[in-house]
Amino acid sequence: MKHKETEAIHRGEGADPSAAPLTTPIYETSTFLFESTAELESFQAGTSTKYLYSRYGNPTVRAVEQKIAALEGADAAMLLSSGMAAVSTALFGLLKAGDELVCSAAIYGGTLQVIRGYLEKFGVHARFAPIEEFQTPTRLISEKTRLVWFESPINPTLRCIDIAGVAAACKARGVTSAIDNTFASPLNQSPLTLGIDLIMHSATKYINGHSDVTAGALVGSTAMIKSLQPARKLIGGMIDPAAAFAVGRGIKTIGVRIARHNQNAMAVAQYLETHPKVSAVFYPGLASHPDHAVAKKQMTGGFGGMVTFEAKDGFAGASRFFDRMQVFKRAASLGGVDSLASLPVLTSQWGFSDAQLKDAGVTRGMVRLSVGIEHIDDLIADLQQALNG
Ligand SMILES: *Cc1c(COP(=O)(O)O)cnc(C)c1O
Repeated sequence: MKHKETEAIHRGEGADPSAAPLTTPIYETSTFLFESTAELESFQAGTSTKYLYSRYGNPTVRAVEQKIAALEGADAAMLLSSGMAAVSTALFGLLKAGDELVCSAAIYGGTLQVIRGYLEKFGVHARFAPIEEFQTPTRLISEKTRLVWFESPINPTLRCIDIAGVAAACKARGVTSAIDNTFASPLNQSPLTLGIDLIMHSATKYINGHSDVTAGALVGSTAMIKSLQPARKLIGGMIDPAAAFAVGRGIKTIGVRIARHNQNAMAVAQYLETHPKVSAVFYPGLASHPDHAVAKKQMTGGFGGMVTFEAKDGFAGASRFFDRMQVFKRAASLGGVDSLASLPVLTSQWGFSDAQLKDAGVTRGMVRLSVGIEHIDDLIADLQQALNG
């Protein structure tokens, strides 16, 4: 028996050899033990599977990375503290001064700001290409292009880009292709099978699915993910083990969640299309959507939980609807079990000029719905009372 002060620290720590837990415990530790110099030498030589420090890797985080890799049909995945940590780790890890990055003009605001505010400062040249250019993807790439980064479906219009087409054009020129697959979720769309090199997710959204944690993921080949390890380690976007555990628990129900999101969103889109106070509905699963054919080809699991519509009398109609909602909640973000709604001109397209709105395909009467997994009758009844009021 050591002194009480020492026992209070040392007693009862470490893995319990008699326990065989069904689930992966939360390894809430910043560092890991080594038995000897030899063990540490073998770790540094890369010949051991041990862990050293939780910013580099952690068993709870690793367990969730294996799940995410499996969902995308990939060899490897990396889990990070937010979608933006994933974006930054990928962009800083892949690019250097003088490289050209080609990005779709309609892109997540945070991604745009990292490129404009930081990457350009370090000599990366970014070109933002309109969706029309992505439709003939050989036009996207120049001598200096190193990376093509895009989203599909795109926020909030849910326009879709032919993923296989972009991937093939990149492959032919030796350019890395990357997609932000957040809106589709790994259950609905598998970009690696379409030839994409790197997938990014805001795991805050459908992957965790409960709007109670922020997390991000990068998914790709073992070589790709390994090449990005130093960037995660040094930029410091590692996720906390407790947050990783929450993501892992969320993932367990992704199959039933996404099936219900797809089903509810389709029903919501079809209902809205018939409503006299709605002038347009944007959902890739509707035959009226401009990219329905592309979506049908590549969204093999379903068309997702995001639906955007335009109110007939513009911003006044949209805001009247928005203020009357009772089951749908007024909140940014998406991809959780709770149905949420946002007004793009007051969130993702806030501060845009008329010309910028036109370029993004966004109007002042648009409402974006993240359709949750509540009972469909309650969702439709809420849309009905909010539109009719
Ligand atoms: C939310 C989101 C992000 C950023 O992810 P965070 O988890 O908020 O950092 C990136 N891309 C898309 C499409 C998103 O919806």
